[in-house]
Amino acid sequence: MRNLFWLLFACFLLTYSGCTPSSANSQTPEAAPPLPSLKGKHILMTYGGYQGHTPKAFCDHAAAWLTEEGAILTISDSLAIYENDSLMRAQDLIIQWVTDGQITDEQVAGLSLAVKSGVGLAGCHGGTGDSFRNKPDYQYMVGGQWVAHPGGEVDYTVNILDKKHPITAGIADFDMQSEQYYMHVDPNVTVLATTTFHVENADYLNGAVMPVIWLKNFGKGRLFYTSLGHKLADFEVPGAWETFQRGVRWASGSKYVPQEKLIQPVYPGS
Ligand SMILES: [Zn+2]
Repeated sequence: MRNLFWLLFACFLLTYSGCTPSSANSQTPEAAPPLPSLKGKHILMTYGGYQGHTPKAFCDHAAAWLTEEGAILTISDSLAIYENDSLMRAQDLIIQWVTDGQITDEQVAGLSLAVKSGVGLAGCHGGTGDSFRNKPDYQYMVGGQWVAHPGGEVDYTVNILDKKHPITAGIADFDMQSEQYYMHVDPNVTVLATTTFHVENADYLNGAVMPVIWLKNFGKGRLFYTSLGHKLADFEVPGAWETFQRGVRWASGSKYVPQEKLIQPVYPGS
């Protein structure tokens, strides 16, 4: 009877270890190294801008997951919240869903100060990578800016470049049918995944390799960006949603883990 108990207990552990809601769609969740928990973390999400990207739907989708994870959410459709210094510094992470929006210099400064102080910043697609085209201070922080998506919605593959990082470990290359973002990217960010262009009617681009997922530090804050997420259905692709979830967890840890060196220059220097 005692042996039976331990056998059942072992089966229970094998079945449920690592089985968090976020790993339900993972291709190999057991292979992923640990990432910071979101339980009790303060997360601010902002949404707005270009409505074609359904920012509120993305925000709601993320909010449902983050609530399950035990995060403490603040959600705002106004970027004026970036000027609330005490609220901003009290956050662990900011997730922004604002494509092609308007922001004041004071709001950019508030966001930058918070991230420099150790608040993480995470986001996807245009909501973070094409937010404020006339604000280089914002682009400097994010490390990239959308410039085109040749061919509109196309079939393409996301290639995992770093197979050991906790955000991408155990995740195989995966296919998307969506906008393939061509971006101007800071050549010093840490790139975890790329995509190669093969576009009809734009053969001058064929063979071009573009970062899809990257990391960087801005002051003490961790920055996670993925160019996936044009439409909510894109997050039904397990690799796309899993890397987003892991990236959010990773970026939420800025205040709690030693800072890593994330400058990885593409070009040789002195
Ligand atoms: Zn888009």
